[in-house]
Amino acid sequence: MSSSIQSILHRYGSDRTRLLDVLWDVQDEFGYIPDDAVRELASGLNTTALDIRETASFYHFFRDRPSGRYTLYLSNTVIAKMKGFDAVSKALQAETGACFGGVDSTGTFGLEQTSCIGLSDQEPAMLVDKVVFTRLTPEKVVDIIARLRQGETPEQIANPGGLPPQALDYVDALVESNIHQAGPVFFDRGTRVREVLERWLGRNPDELILAATESRLRGRGGAGFSVGLKWRLCRESDADTRYVICNADEGEPGTFKDRVLLTRSPLQVFAGMTIAAHATAAREGIVYLRAEYFYLKAYLEAQLQLLRDEGLLGRDILGRGLDFDIRIQMGAGAYICGDESALIESCEGKRGTPRLKPPFPVYQGYLGKPTAVCNVETFATVTRVMELGASWFEGLGTKDSCGTRLLSISGDCARPGIYEIEWGVTLNHVLALVGARNARAVQLSGPSGECLSVEKDGHRKFCYSDLSCNGSMMIFDYSRDLLGVVRDFMQFFVDESCGICTPCRSGNEDLLRKIDLFMAGKARPSDIDDLQSWGRIIQRTSRCGLGGTSPKPILTTLGKFPELFEAADHPAHDTLLPSFDHVQAFSAYDRAHAALDKERS
Ligand code: SF4
Repeated sequence: MSSSIQSILHRYGSDRTRLLDVLWDVQDEFGYIPDDAVRELASGLNTTALDIRETASFYHFFRDRPSGRYTLYLSNTVIAKMKGFDAVSKALQAETGACFGGVDSTGTFGLEQTSCIGLSDQEPAMLVDKVVFTRLTPEKVVDIIARLRQGETPEQIANPGGLPPQALDYVDALVESNIHQAGPVFFDRGTRVREVLERWLGRNPDELILAATESRLRGRGGAGFSVGLKWRLCRESDADTRYVICNADEGEPGTFKDRVLLTRSPLQVFAGMTIAAHATAAREGIVYLRAEYFYLKAYLEAQLQLLRDEGLLGRDILGRGLDFDIRIQMGAGAYICGDESALIESCEGKRGTPRLKPPFPVYQGYLGKPTAVCNVETFATVTRVMELGASWFEGLGTKDSCGTRLLSISGDCARPGIYEIEWGVTLNHVLALVGARNARAVQLSGPSGECLSVEKDGHRKFCYSDLSCNGSMMIFDYSRDLLGVVRDFMQFFVDESCGICTPCRSGNEDLLRKIDLFMAGKARPSDIDDLQSWGRIIQRTSRCGLGGTSPKPILTTLGKFPELFEAADHPAHDTLLPSFDHVQAFSAYDRAHAALDKERS
């Protein structure tokens, strides 16, 4: 074991901040992360074994015990459950002889369930180790397992043509892009990356910041922060070095647009990062790529090399004096790492626990230095804005929401996939576009977004002041059990809470138990009050956006479909803590909060 571990440590310069890469390599070598390896790593990285285990245990995909020669992760999203999850999961258990969470008696197959793997347009889907299989059926499962038993590798089964993993054809062989509507900003093969960089890298960074500001481009990650302002704050922060990070950790169930952008337009994304580097005076860029997209890694590395070979990345780009390069940091399965500060912690080789803010990453981000974090869609948009101009971009969309938005559409519709829409179109327009004939409800922006009633909200517009969608739309028709959907979303938040704040860690658990009461027909009228008040407490007292949004599936569904929450005068149930008086418990907090609000205003 020692020489393998030593060579892995050597590969990363025994740098503690590269712990995630180190752990991936150890797991690739041994199939899991053994105790002996942890001890050696601790000594090589000048830390403790406990510290390494503490970090590794945070991530869903790191294993501390053998998990079969092949580990199969079946996506268990609500969309997968609408598209045949049950039959596929039964077939997997029958064919492998393993139960979920376990390994078969021969040690060949480990079976796990996992949350969204970014394939809601082609569910049911699974990962076999790092290889993706989509549109699963019981028959496909029988075939895949039989071939694995006969000695074929997951790679050979998914890629029978033996295409090199660096090729776009390889990526296409594994996963469809499913672009149904491209627009003016994305997927235009005519985007001239070299010309854009030639035009802008020679200019004063202030001009770049001004152009981004004048375009009124806002970050596409959810918060909608001005890109120009973010760059200016980062540049003006006093520091000897700065960083640009691309958040490619789209873990929100139902979202897969970044997967498609990285497949079809990686150069546009990387050029956007390079422009941001020039604007902010950054010298190093990181793409934080979710582990579910491992199949894209070799392809993206090849695209980065292409840019280097053409002088568009690396030392003295285009002779304009800018040194900037990009590396890919693989995640390891943690939804919370979509939060920018958690993502930065993860890039530093730690648990993905969100940081307290302030300070914000533009002041103190990666390794304590100013860092501009934007998501994939934002960087791709930056390149197009710089190509065609701020006024061109500002002319798209509406007055308060410029440009276009990429939507990942899934669920009950004829044409799930990717759509580029201009801000300002209505929900009904999009539903007609995707062939959703009998839609009853739409979950916008994933579980952390809001539940909409097609009847009540169909006229509403996509824009920051109304439906400020983060890029995902899950559609549910009249045949679906919406309360079951809510339960599924709450289970997701329970599973993904990092656990550092009590309201999020245990409050979501309590809300989930309440939903179970409604589903079992045992809820009382006071349970509705509890859902609302407990939900608001979790939102107000949690550290990060996960807790700030986790009660939304309940609160927004309750607002739109109150009839789902049937309550009657049942005898008191004892599944909760009836003696806990939340009003009393939070009164001091409420007073402090009110005083703070008053002070701020
Ligand atoms: Fe962690 Fe939840 Fe607190 Fe966010 S709100 S820091 S996910 S416990």
